[in-house]
Amino acid sequence: MNVKEWIAQVVRQEEIDKYLVNGKDFVDEREIVRELEETRGPDVGMVRDILQKSLDIKLLTPRETAVLLNVEDPELLEEMKGVALEVKKRVYDNRIVFFAPLYCSNVCVNRCVYCGFRSDNCEEKRHVLTPAEIRQETEAVIDQGHKRLIAVYGEHPLSDADYIADSISEIYSVKRTTPTGNGFNNIRRVNVNAAPMSVADLRKLWRAGIGTFQVFQETYHRGRYAEFHPADTVKGNYRWRLYAMHRAMDAGIDDVAIGALFGLYDWRFEVMGLVRHAHDLERQFGIGPHTISFPRMQPAPGSFISENSSYLVGDDAFKRLVTVLRLAVPYTGLIVTARERADLRREIIGYGCTQTDASSKIGIGAYSTNKLQEENRDKVQFMLGDQRRLDEVVRELATDGYITSFCTAGYRCGRTGDKIMSLLEKGVEGKFCKLNAVLTFREYLNDYASAETRIVGERLIEKELQEIERNAFFTDKRLLPTFLSYYKRIAAGERDLYM
Ligand code: SAM
Ligand code: SF4
Repeated sequence: MNVKEWIAQVVRQEEIDKYLVNGKDFVDEREIVRELEETRGPDVGMVRDILQKSLDIKLLTPRETAVLLNVEDPELLEEMKGVALEVKKRVYDNRIVFFAPLYCSNVCVNRCVYCGFRSDNCEEKRHVLTPAEIRQETEAVIDQGHKRLIAVYGEHPLSDADYIADSISEIYSVKRTTPTGNGFNNIRRVNVNAAPMSVADLRKLWRAGIGTFQVFQETYHRGRYAEFHPADTVKGNYRWRLYAMHRAMDAGIDDVAIGALFGLYDWRFEVMGLVRHAHDLERQFGIGPHTISFPRMQPAPGSFISENSSYLVGDDAFKRLVTVLRLAVPYTGLIVTARERADLRREIIGYGCTQTDASSKIGIGAYSTNKLQEENRDKVQFMLGDQRRLDEVVRELATDGYITSFCTAGYRCGRTGDKIMSLLEKGVEGKFCKLNAVLTFREYLNDYASAETRIVGERLIEKELQEIERNAFFTDKRLLPTFLSYYKRIAAGERDLYM
């Protein structure tokens, strides 16, 4: 099959139509605009009632979300940030999950105007990692201390579903002796960010053991979507992308992740699109998205729009949109990436983000060659705002009271999809996460932490241990003895024990 024939067979109309309601999708643009208009200048009492609903850990309606998006009063905005953090504490406590992106291919059949990988960017040097290169890259990521990856791919027959499935298996097969020679480290969860696929292709990824499948809608606004994604490309099909997660659910992948690329259209509209997306997944499958991402568009090589869009989101609006998302979807993880500057990332983690990356390199093959993005401009998709090493970010967050978690137990113990949602609602999953966060942080401190990080980390882990020992849940459920024995075994050099 040549590239043209491959492109022609990607979209399956019947795998779009089955999710529509009376021929319509869930992004009712008129209704979004009306909701945003009608809720302008909201009454303080109404805002506080909605905040109480968030504190009760309930998904907000699109209209309630619109009310929060319309808050302009600085004091009320501060109050919202405080409630957002409280919501995060109730569901996720003080944990922050770390991952690293692994770019496997930069070949692409699409021409997204904002992306360095677009097919008409002649400056970009194209490459698809070979299995041996995937191993090398994975080894370099593991050697930083990571245990979770998100593998990223351009859309192309050379990096199709079979290639992605093979690369997932390759990544899982890599094991490294730790720098101390004490035990081993490996990637225990491979998430994927790739183009929308058919149910049959998604099943291949499910069989290979994918963690979360992630696709960003980029913009929920049809007109703007059409401007940035030429109609003669696969990505030009707005609805094929809109229902990527519905198909993933049908393929058995029940951890799905959505996002929008902020800077293509009005940020309030995009937040409304994301919340509607979450509602439609809940309505059709009983499970919302596992995470939401809100990347801001970054300068991309040769892309005028990436630096000059009239919708680029400033820091204040960015902080507001993160706050509102935390309040609107209390159970959903929120991801802030190294696209953002270090100071801003640190601040917005305080409004409720639950996952982040560090030591990130987004050039193809950049981990094993240890190149900075400035040296790799012809192989990157865009430029990162924060290139600090994992150790430094872990230390900064530990200083702020956040415990780094590399936990992958939920997924390996079958606590995913609707099971994890019900456990989160009952407050049970958070308890397991706390234990697994401490176990994986113990591994990290022993194996990879610098002397400075160990000092801050040991203090934090001691506090966590005391909290665990005092908490009746762990004694009542007889979890404490198992946890303490695992903790001791890990401290003595065993690895990958989880609950
Ligand atoms: N090719 C697949 C796709 O488009 O879905 C997946 C990989 S693509 C490299 C991953 C994401 O990068 C895109 O969904 C887009 O949101 C984001 N991205 C593209 N250009 C960007 C830019 N200039 N700044 C920030 N993020 C960007
Ligand atoms: Fe290709 Fe994805 Fe970049 Fe678009 S965003 S050009 S589909 S890699």
